Amino acid sequence: MKIISTGKKEWENRHQTFTEKIKDLFEIGNEPDLDALESYNDCTKGFQKMISDAIQTNTPFRSLGAGWSWTKIATAKDGIMADTKPLNTTMSMSAKSVLNSYTGDVKKLIFAQCGNGVWELSKELRPKNLSLKTSGASSGQTIVGAMSTGAHGSSIDVGAVQDYIVGMHIILSPTRHIWLERKSARVVSGAFVKKLETELVRNDALFNAALVSFGNFGLIHGVLVETDDLFLLETYMRRMPYDAALKNLMQTLDFSNANLPCGNERPFHFSVSINPYDLDKGAYVSSFYKRPYRDDYQRPVPNDQGIGPGDDAPCFIGKLTASIPALVPILVNKLLAGVLKPYEKQFGTLGEIFGNTDLHGKLLSAAIGIPLNQVNRVTDLLFEINKTDGPFTGLFAYRFIKKSKATLAFTHFDFTCILELDGAFSDATKSFYTAVWNRLDKEGIPFTFHWGKMNELNIDRITRMYGKDADAWIAARNKLLDAKSIKIFTNPQLQDWGLDKVL
Ligand SMILES: Cc1cc2nc3c(=O)[nH]c(=O)nc-3n(C[C@H](O)[C@H](O)[C@H](O)COP(=O)(O)OP(=O)(O)OC[C@H]3O[C@@H](n4cnc5c(N)ncnc54)[C@H](O)[C@@H]3O)c2cc1C
Repeated sequence: MKIISTGKKEWENRHQTFTEKIKDLFEIGNEPDLDALESYNDCTKGFQKMISDAIQTNTPFRSLGAGWSWTKIATAKDGIMADTKPLNTTMSMSAKSVLNSYTGDVKKLIFAQCGNGVWELSKELRPKNLSLKTSGASSGQTIVGAMSTGAHGSSIDVGAVQDYIVGMHIILSPTRHIWLERKSARVVSGAFVKKLETELVRNDALFNAALVSFGNFGLIHGVLVETDDLFLLETYMRRMPYDAALKNLMQTLDFSNANLPCGNERPFHFSVSINPYDLDKGAYVSSFYKRPYRDDYQRPVPNDQGIGPGDDAPCFIGKLTASIPALVPILVNKLLAGVLKPYEKQFGTLGEIFGNTDLHGKLLSAAIGIPLNQVNRVTDLLFEINKTDGPFTGLFAYRFIKKSKATLAFTHFDFTCILELDGAFSDATKSFYTAVWNRLDKEGIPFTFHWGKMNELNIDRITRMYGKDADAWIAARNKLLDAKSIKIFTNPQLQDWGLDKVL
C-alpha cells in the first residue's frame, strides 16, 4: 500500500464551510505492481498497520471519502485522516465466489474498493451493460462515503445508496477484519472469504447498523454492490400549479390519477421544487421514467446555464450570496429563472442524468426526512417561518424514497419525503434552519436529519427520531469494535451526537 503524508495540519471540506485541525492527511494508494487481489489484500494489511500505529500513539483515525459532507463526520480532530479516493479497484464476482443459494444474478454483482467514485462505478459498469440502481443527484462521492451517510436520490421504489450494498469488508482492528453480510440474505461463498483472507460474519443487526455508520465502525475497505441492467431515464421537468392535485401526489405517492408527462405511470424518480417567492407560477415538478436501454438516443444536454436534467440545488445555489432581506426574493427569482428551465423528454443513463461531479461555490444544505402524511403541513409551516424568521435565500425541494433497512438511515419512514433546504452560505440561513427544526419539534412532527448535511442533532433528538434503533446501533458498534479501536474511531462529532457510548 502506498501511504503519502501530505503534512497538512488543517483540513477543509470540499465546500469550504469548515476547517478542522489534524495531525496529518495521508493519501492512500494501491501498489501498482501487484494484481488487483494482491494489492487489495496488501492494502488491508497496510490499514491494519495504520490502525495499530494510531492505537499505539493514541491518535484519532478516520477515513475520508470525497469530503462532500457539511458535518464533521469525516474528520479526525488532532488525528490522522486517510484519503481513500485513489483506492478504486473493482472486481467482478465469479460463480465460485457466490453461494448457490444466492437468488440474484451473479453477473450483476461488483465488488468495489471503498474509494471508487459513484461516477467511476457508473463509467465502469456501462460497457458491461450494467448500471447502479440509484445515486444522489450528483455523483462525486465515493461509494462508501455515499453509503455511510445514507445518500439518496429520488428513486421512489429503489431506496438510497446503502440499499443496494449486500456485503462489506470492514477492518476493525490491527488483528481483525471481517466480511459482513446479512444472515437473512447470504451472498458470498467460503472461497471469496478466503480470497480476502478474512473472517465471515453473517448477522443482520450488525450489517444493518454498519451500512449507515458515518466512519464509526472501523474502515470499510470494500463493498459488494448489486447492480441493474443498464437502463435509460426518460426525463421531464414541468412547472405545475401547486394545487390540491400536486399536494395529494406529494403526500400519498399515489400516481393512479396523476397528470404527469407519462400520465398515471408511477415514475422511477419524482421530485418537486418550490421557489417560495413565485409560487403563483407553479412548482417545478420532475418526473423520470425507467426505460430499457437502447443506443440510439440523443444524449442529455445541459441548459444554457450548464444545468442538466438531474442536477439539484447544490449545483447552482452557491451562486446566491447573503443579502439584505428586501432583496432576497429578487435574487432568488433571478437565479432560479435562469437555472431551472423546464424541459421535455430528455433521455440518459442514470450516470448521465445524475452525473455532476463539480461543486459550484459555497452554500449551505440541509435535508430532513419526514413521513409522507406531514409533507403539506410542513410546507405550510415553512411559508409561515419564512415570514417570521426569513426570508430564506434558497428554495424548498422535495424528494421521495422508500424506507431503508439500515438501522440509522434517515430514510426511516415507510416512504420518506426528503425535504431539502439549500441556501446561501450565511448566518441568516443558519437561523432559518434553527427556526424550522425548533418549530417541527414544537409541533410534534417526526423528522430525521441527513447525517452529512447541516443539522442540529443531539442525543435527545436522536432518541426521539430513532428510539431503540439508536441503542441497537451503539450496541452493534460495541460488538464489532474492541475498546482500543472504539477510541480511535471516535471523533467530536460523534460525541456531540451522543452516539459514542462505550458499553
Ligand atoms: C454537490 C453535492 C450534492 C449532494 N447531493 C446529495 C444528494 O443528492 N443526496 C444525498 O443524500 N446527499 C447529497 N449530498 C451529500 C453527500 O452525498 C453526502 O454527504 C455523502 O456522504 C458524501 O460522500 P463523500 O464520499 O464525500 O464522503 P465524506 O463526506 O468524505 O465522508 C462521509 C462519511 O463516510 C465516512 N467514510 C468515507 N469512506 C469511508 C471508509 N472507507 N470507511 C469508513 N467510513 C468511510 C467518512 O468517515 C464520513 O463519516 C451532496 C453533497 C454535495 C456537496
